[in-house]
Amino acid sequence: MRGVVFDGKAPRVVDDLEVRGPGPGEVLVAVAAAGLCHSDLSVIDGTIPFPVPVVLGHEGAGVVESVGPGVTHVAPGDHVALSTLANCGTCADCDRGRPTMCRAAIGRPSRPFHRGNGERLFNFASNSAFAQRTLVTAVQAVKIPDEIPLTSAALIGCGVLTGVGAVLNRARVDRGESVVVIGTGGIGLNVLQGARIAGATTVVAVDNNPAKEPPARRFGATHFAGSPEAVREILPTGADHAFECVGSIRLIRQAVDLLDRHGQAVLLGVPPADAEAAFRVSSLYLDKSILGCRYGSARPQRDIALYAELYRQGRLLLDELVTRVYPVEDFAAAVADARGGRVARAVLTF
Ligand SMILES: [Zn+2]
Ligand SMILES: [Zn+2]
Repeated sequence: MRGVVFDGKAPRVVDDLEVRGPGPGEVLVAVAAAGLCHSDLSVIDGTIPFPVPVVLGHEGAGVVESVGPGVTHVAPGDHVALSTLANCGTCADCDRGRPTMCRAAIGRPSRPFHRGNGERLFNFASNSAFAQRTLVTAVQAVKIPDEIPLTSAALIGCGVLTGVGAVLNRARVDRGESVVVIGTGGIGLNVLQGARIAGATTVVAVDNNPAKEPPARRFGATHFAGSPEAVREILPTGADHAFECVGSIRLIRQAVDLLDRHGQAVLLGVPPADAEAAFRVSSLYLDKSILGCRYGSARPQRDIALYAELYRQGRLLLDELVTRVYPVEDFAAAVADARGGRVARAVLTF
């Protein structure tokens, strides 16, 4: 079968990939579509260190092909969106509703894939959606209604869970509050629509590319600014919430400086692992805070069902996130368009 493999030097589309069948508690999924997220590019350029060779992709949707012993919540033929959280479901963090903090779900890649020459390959983010078939643990396969196009559903598993989840689960934005979103790529657009869903009344999108204004407004921005400095004209006393979605230490500092009293900066962008950011200590005195956020503090079985329902009601946009669809053979073109900022999300089909 076809898939996208990264060997430490360059990504390549191969056609001699195989994946083992599902063992106890596992689900084999025929991937229909998968979004190209910035984190895949970060593995390729080394920002996110990962063992190789690895099958990339971590944002996908498809149809259940078979299930291993003990799996009862999905059956062959079900449509599923895939999360990246292979959380154990039995530890104290899972039990208290924090699967993103489950230690079993972090930093333990397995090698369910092999190639024709016998070489074994790691899965990326417990997911590897850039393959015609992939193997996930039962908790990662979340049933979705058949009506959602799989090219749109593919984006729920990372971009939507991370962006909308950061607003609803981590920041807990409240009705009437003000929100600044720095960077309007795939994650930023989802933060914008999360802010709209939460009932924020002033939502400022910040992007130095003026072409991003129409999509930003469609997703929920009430204002658009070309730079963080320009936000002060719209919010003279600052913002209740500032989301940094770029991964720039300069913009992280500016997000902190944009906070109103009791405001919070949420860091979603991913700078290099050893990057350090600076801020003036006094700028946090008035009950301000800086929040990290892993994967939208998501509870995928709950959140994906919620987002599917909001999509059905027309309140959560998915189709509009899909800028362009590429057959997996055109992976290089998808990467070029994503790197060039020409697409909010490039979606690969298999
Ligand atoms: Zn992602
Ligand atoms: Zn756990």
